[in-house]
Amino acid sequence: MIYYKTGEEIEIMRENNMLVSRTLAEVGKHIRPGVATLELDKIAEDYIRSHGAVPGFLGYQGFPNSLCISVNEQVVHGIPSSKTILKEGDIISVDCGTVMKGFYGDSAYTFAVGEIEPGVRKLLEVTKECLYKGVEQVRVGNRIGDIANAVQNHAENNGFSVVRELVGHGLGRSMHEAPEVPNYGAKGRGALLKEGLVICIEPMINMGTRQIVFENDGWTVRTKDRKPSAHFEFAVAVTKNGADVLTSFDYIEN
Ligand code: MG
Ligand code: MG
Repeated sequence: MIYYKTGEEIEIMRENNMLVSRTLAEVGKHIRPGVATLELDKIAEDYIRSHGAVPGFLGYQGFPNSLCISVNEQVVHGIPSSKTILKEGDIISVDCGTVMKGFYGDSAYTFAVGEIEPGVRKLLEVTKECLYKGVEQVRVGNRIGDIANAVQNHAENNGFSVVRELVGHGLGRSMHEAPEVPNYGAKGRGALLKEGLVICIEPMINMGTRQIVFENDGWTVRTKDRKPSAHFEFAVAVTKNGADVLTSFDYIEN
């Protein structure tokens, strides 16, 4: 069942996603070699709570923290730890959620830790471009497959691979609502985009094989070949004028 949101509900979701955006920027200020990922989690939790929201991931299906932090070959759902210390050249995908006024925010950004290799830099750039290519397809009358196809083509045309087992999703009063939003697929297929639909588009793009492994901690997903993976995520509302992106990376990048 797909829940279409009213304009008022979309504004509440914008508040949530702007808080997520600002939380990611706050976390980003503290990303440097020597920092433990658990420290970043604490910064995010404090920031979210001090702005009148609750961390969306904490306790979600038993997840132990406020952020998913996935380093290098970790794709998504990494658990923050005092033992995971960032070092120069790492990349770190930070996924953040909030709940406020009954609705969720959910967005992710992959940061570089200091100087990274040019090939890894390209992976980050292309993955973010994949997200933007997906957003370009958001308009009334298009289908989920149009988004999926745009993301897949851009990734593969640049020599990277697309994770299949994990997908984007509808967002609203629940973190994961219908429809699923895959990062691969055929144009013209899947659910129709109608006014009021809010979806998370979240390309997970690998440098090497698209194959992944689920680690024994019950959460962490990593690439099978242990090459790097990147992840960027926006929440986007479908309006009669096209895509209304509820997330902003400007807080991070400016
Ligand atoms: Mg998501
Ligand atoms: Mg997310």
